Amino acid sequence: MHVDPLPATNAAHYRLVCSECGNHREDDGISLACSALHGPALLRTEYRETAFAPDDRSSGVFRYHRWLPVRRCLPGTGRTVVRRAGKLAAAIGLHELWIAFNGYQPEWGAEMATCSFKELEAAAVLGRLPGSAGTLVVASAGNTAAAFAELCSRHDVPVVIMVPQAALGGLRSRAPYGRSVQLVAVADAEYADAIRPRRHAGRPPRIHRRRRNPQRRPS
Ligand SMILES: [Zn+2]
Repeated sequence: MHVDPLPATNAAHYRLVCSECGNHREDDGISLACSALHGPALLRTEYRETAFAPDDRSSGVFRYHRWLPVRRCLPGTGRTVVRRAGKLAAAIGLHELWIAFNGYQPEWGAEMATCSFKELEAAAVLGRLPGSAGTLVVASAGNTAAAFAELCSRHDVPVVIMVPQAALGGLRSRAPYGRSVQLVAVADAEYADAIRPRRHAGRPPRIHRRRRNPQRRPS
């Protein structure tokens, strides 16, 4: 992964906690499950700083990096824009109405290039990954694929994105994807079918430890 342009944050500002056994540990940036012998359980984060304080020096979703499980902030990410909707409020008989907008409307300061809030998720995932993470594998039927393709291309993060073939037309971008993005279209498939090969490609040695070979395509 190319990491040089990404400003670092303080990864030690949180720890991971297993919601099943309560085990606390430092985050390696790639773990999705507890290593203890028990059934599936979510990992949650525990932040050392309990006061909520946005960082106005950072942009987009990284204004909240103190309460995000990330080790660096990616520049130029989009953010949710909250605007007062006076006309709509009047039309539906409300005194006051505010709308949270996730999309692309630069004059409002809304710059999610894929017009989806999934860019917030993609930004946080990429901000969490360590430089040695290898190739990320993502399966999606639409907006998640578009968001990861956009941000991984922008920040040169190796990624294999599996989508149903029918979803390819929905992957829009302002610029062609870079070489770090590989798209795999699964023919005659829906989301569940796209996930199946992802599980195969996503075995740990292949995602996290193997160097990406641009000449090779996943089977
Ligand atoms: Zn556990």
